[in-house]
Amino acid sequence: MAEKMLKFVGTPQAMPVKRPAAERRHDFQEIYSAYARDKAAEQAARCSQCGVPFCQVHCPLHNNIPDWLKLTAEGRLDEAYELSSATNNFPEICGRICPQDRLCEGNCVIEKGFESVTIGSVEKFITDTAWERGWVKPIQPRRERPESIGIVGAGPAGLAAAEQLRRKGYQVAIYDRYDRVGGLLIYGIPNFKLEKEIVQRREKLLRDSKVTFHLNCEVGRDVSFEELRQRHGAVLVATGVYKARDIAAPGIGLPGIAPALDYLTASNRAGLGDTVADIESGVLDARDKHVVVIGGGDTAMDCVRTAVRQGAKSVKCLYRRDRANMPGSQREVKHAEEEGVEFVWLSAPQAFLGNDRVSHVRTVRIHLGMPDASGRQTPQEIANSHVNIEADLVLKALGFDPEDLPLSFAAPELGVTGWGTLKIDWRSMMSSLDGVFAAGDIVRGASLVVWAVRDGRDAAERIHTYLTTKAAAAASMAAE
Ligand SMILES: Cc1cc2nc3c(=O)[nH]c(=O)nc-3n(C[C@H](O)[C@H](O)[C@H](O)COP(=O)(O)OP(=O)(O)OC[C@H]3O[C@@H](n4cnc5c(N)ncnc54)[C@H](O)[C@@H]3O)c2cc1C
Repeated sequence: MAEKMLKFVGTPQAMPVKRPAAERRHDFQEIYSAYARDKAAEQAARCSQCGVPFCQVHCPLHNNIPDWLKLTAEGRLDEAYELSSATNNFPEICGRICPQDRLCEGNCVIEKGFESVTIGSVEKFITDTAWERGWVKPIQPRRERPESIGIVGAGPAGLAAAEQLRRKGYQVAIYDRYDRVGGLLIYGIPNFKLEKEIVQRREKLLRDSKVTFHLNCEVGRDVSFEELRQRHGAVLVATGVYKARDIAAPGIGLPGIAPALDYLTASNRAGLGDTVADIESGVLDARDKHVVVIGGGDTAMDCVRTAVRQGAKSVKCLYRRDRANMPGSQREVKHAEEEGVEFVWLSAPQAFLGNDRVSHVRTVRIHLGMPDASGRQTPQEIANSHVNIEADLVLKALGFDPEDLPLSFAAPELGVTGWGTLKIDWRSMMSSLDGVFAAGDIVRGASLVVWAVRDGRDAAERIHTYLTTKAAAAASMAAE
């Protein structure tokens, strides 16, 4: 090992080439190019192979990072792929969009003195190579099982669970109200972070593995939840969180003010070739507009960068806390700044001004006061500090809450937490209803793709235990 690894002392960190901001402002392609094979090997060889791999500990999937870095450094890419795909259903997706600076790379032990190993980029390189070389194959279970599982939601949690269950030979049907597979991977996250072919080739793989999709099918409207429970041996709810939080301020109802996800979905649909009325009419198009995005998370970052690419006159991001206290990834802020986005920190909207449509956002400056019970400093308005910011399009990106599932599923017995997320027993991942499991954002609240994958995998394992235990009990009853 010694001669291949531990090269961090002499080899500096090198990310794949990032396209210049002036170029990427004009298109929706991903901003990083791929590593060449020797570059991936060189960067993987920077890993110090430390005794306690904090990168692995801090990865929600506990990916075996040091080992697949070593295999990459040694040019054994097929084995690196085997290892990385053993713990993660979508390594090339996580490699692209995980906030590595807060997870694996942020905990890399060489990070302090030498800058971390570029784990995400190597992970993406390994799996993209596997796809190119035909190593990623449809699932052929060793034996088919008769039981079927119904999964509500074709986002990363539902898809990861489907793949794991199919591997065990279960018959898997996925129901989604969207017309395409992927959940927020397809309609939330923009193409410049995750090109849609990456998601679509995963869909094809699952179809080729004989997973069935029922699209344009909203559970609770097109098919009842009860019917689904009758149809399947177990049901997994992986519906995500979609109720956009709103702002209570005068003028919030003016035309020109829109929820962030409507805007991003429209842009993603247009990118996929759909004709989108709200883009054609200009309602959700930032071209030649002064755009103000309110919020400081991933969704806000995606909105500002989409607006730049649509040809906005100016793009401002209004956030009530400061840079150090924002929830979004610092990497994304850096990309946005390079692309010309202006961040207005410590600033909150007080009113939306305009006659027949929004023309300005009236903002107030914020001072961060004493920490509250959660430890975060409380934002306090500074008197007489108003500023009016010009705006023709305002996007609200303040986060999401769960929809009322017991109501929409007509299942009042389905237990929810105080936040409206589904209540599960974390050991069994089962909800308050027998045979109904849940995973992803609908359990955690708005979270990350990597956690959705983790939950989907865990839920698949628990469903398997549930069904096999039930079958064993039925067999012993029959034998008596
Ligand atoms: C704009 C945006 C950007 C993000 N960027 C990142 C990022 O860069 N990195 C990262 O790690 N995370 C990011 N996230 C978070 C991440 O996308 C989510 O945590 C993840 O997608 C959750 O997966 P999920 O499977 O639980 O839900 P979702 O991906 O939301 O999928 C849920 C699916 O359920 C379907 N559904 C809902 N209700 C019903 C019903 N009644 N009947 C049938 N189908 C239904 C929906 O149509 C959807 O397809 C981002 C989120 C947003 C909104």
